[in-house]
Amino acid sequence: MIQYSLVCENEHKFDAWFRNASAYDEQKVKGIVTCPICTSGDVHKALMAPALSRAKSDKVVVSTGHPQQAELRTAMKALRDKVTSEADYVGDKFASEARKIHDNESEARGIYGEATQDEVSGLVEDGIDFMPLPNLPEDHN
Ligand SMILES: [Zn+2]
Repeated sequence: MIQYSLVCENEHKFDAWFRNASAYDEQKVKGIVTCPICTSGDVHKALMAPALSRAKSDKVVVSTGHPQQAELRTAMKALRDKVTSEADYVGDKFASEARKIHDNESEARGIYGEATQDEVSGLVEDGIDFMPLPNLPEDHN
């Protein structure tokens, strides 16, 4: 069973249960899915509140989880801790410093810091190796 938050053409919000996602589609096509308040058959799924996102356009990748979630999370945290404890923090100079290291203009070493989306795109275009550090949910305020 799967629960959907639905909204009708008159903005009535209600929850409904379906056997599965295709059951919802089938029933909607047949006009069986109706608003319990005004009986309108013109209903659609309500958008979830973008609570995970800082701005409407700022999308985040989310999943429903994995059986090994806790394990993987620990591993990701260990990886991040290892990187951040052994690499030099260069702040917002990451892109320029990574480029200097790549061009042998700076000492070869591990660094980490922040980069803008444009800088990240530039590094990818120039074939400079880097990896995003995992952002763990516990870091969020
Ligand atoms: Zn309604």
